[in-house]
Amino acid sequence: MTARDASLDRVADKVARSERLTRDDALTLFRSHDLLAIGALADAANRAKNGDRVYFAANQHINPTNVCVLRNTCVFCSFARMPQEDGAYTRSLEEVFAEADAARDNATREFHIVGGLHPKLELQYYLDMFRGLRERHPGVHIKALTAVEVAHLARLEGMEVVAVLQAMKEAGVTSLPGGGAEVFSPAARATIADRKLTGDEWLAVHRAAHRVGLPSNCTMLYGHVETLEDRVDHLLALRELQDETHGFLTYIPLAYHPDHNELGEALGRTGTATTGFDDLKNIAVGRLVLDNIPHVKTHWPMVTPFISQVSLGFGCDDLEGTVVFERVYHEAGAGTPMWLSYDEIIGLIRGAGKEPVERDSLYQTVRTFEDWTPGQAVARPEGPAPQRALFQISPRTRAKVRGSRMPAASAVDGAE
Ligand code: SF4
Repeated sequence: MTARDASLDRVADKVARSERLTRDDALTLFRSHDLLAIGALADAANRAKNGDRVYFAANQHINPTNVCVLRNTCVFCSFARMPQEDGAYTRSLEEVFAEADAARDNATREFHIVGGLHPKLELQYYLDMFRGLRERHPGVHIKALTAVEVAHLARLEGMEVVAVLQAMKEAGVTSLPGGGAEVFSPAARATIADRKLTGDEWLAVHRAAHRVGLPSNCTMLYGHVETLEDRVDHLLALRELQDETHGFLTYIPLAYHPDHNELGEALGRTGTATTGFDDLKNIAVGRLVLDNIPHVKTHWPMVTPFISQVSLGFGCDDLEGTVVFERVYHEAGAGTPMWLSYDEIIGLIRGAGKEPVERDSLYQTVRTFEDWTPGQAVARPEGPAPQRALFQISPRTRAKVRGSRMPAASAVDGAE
């Protein structure tokens, strides 16, 4: 491959030889503006693993509560509320089951369950939820609770993290989502999430999950105050754990959204978003550095279905899914739809010249689409009428900028 940016030649040679990239190589990639060359390298690396296949899931998001004890700590978050704050909610189990019953008339194969760190919701609430969902929807995988939620429940119950994970597995959870990683850099976390899990603590929960037989996903939140070095070190930490456990299924770069949160106001970035250039570069560099993680997923609710479709030529082999209904990033200003239909997902994948493959949470093939013509899927309804109110987004009122730990400007502005 001939790159416009000659500094990429050394990396290109390594990719051609399937040689592992170093920290310097990863920094070279992030510093380069030759996006098409980086994308071509990542595309080659992805094709070697996944051919033309692009995976997606028919999934449904369930967010049991937005009450979170770290509401005043994670200044990048627009989802969380204090218990008495406007918009705070906590679902009863009956409400969760009613919401999930929307899956009955659809092709749902995965419940994606994440929420706030409620000060009083006990482990038993979640175990009863998982068992109830399993009984009602035996064919649907349950991907549930981020590392910080697991650690919170362990603290609340006075249990070991591994015991919480074991109980979740016995109640029917099949994998963990990757959220809550943000960026591992202690300096960046001191600004954006000073009392949340450290990088090492996040990795320890996932290590424990892998050991009890729960595979998981991993993420990195980018486009806030992190430096390019922070990004690289984050990716290398994920790669190191994967060498040890082989438990990560997919890597998902997550674009920071600055609306309705304190960090966005402090940075003066309300109403803006990450650039398409940076979105594609994060996909591509992730694919190239994480040579031991099988899949790289684009999260279309954050970067738009259009950037996600383009990312399929930049090293990405997973278009997420139908995501009925995404709430967390819409609270932060995401202007994308709250769900996509089966046909829209297949159309995006086919439009990029790729082969759609529906998967379950564990990347087992549910179906392929050689004979597919649009209109065959059961239409995805907007939820049963009485539940539509559950999916109305009413963002937090103006965020209050607190304290001196807020940065004056975004460190990542220099990334592009
Ligand atoms: S990011 Fe998670 S832990 Fe932090 S405030 Fe939001 S919901 Fe709570």
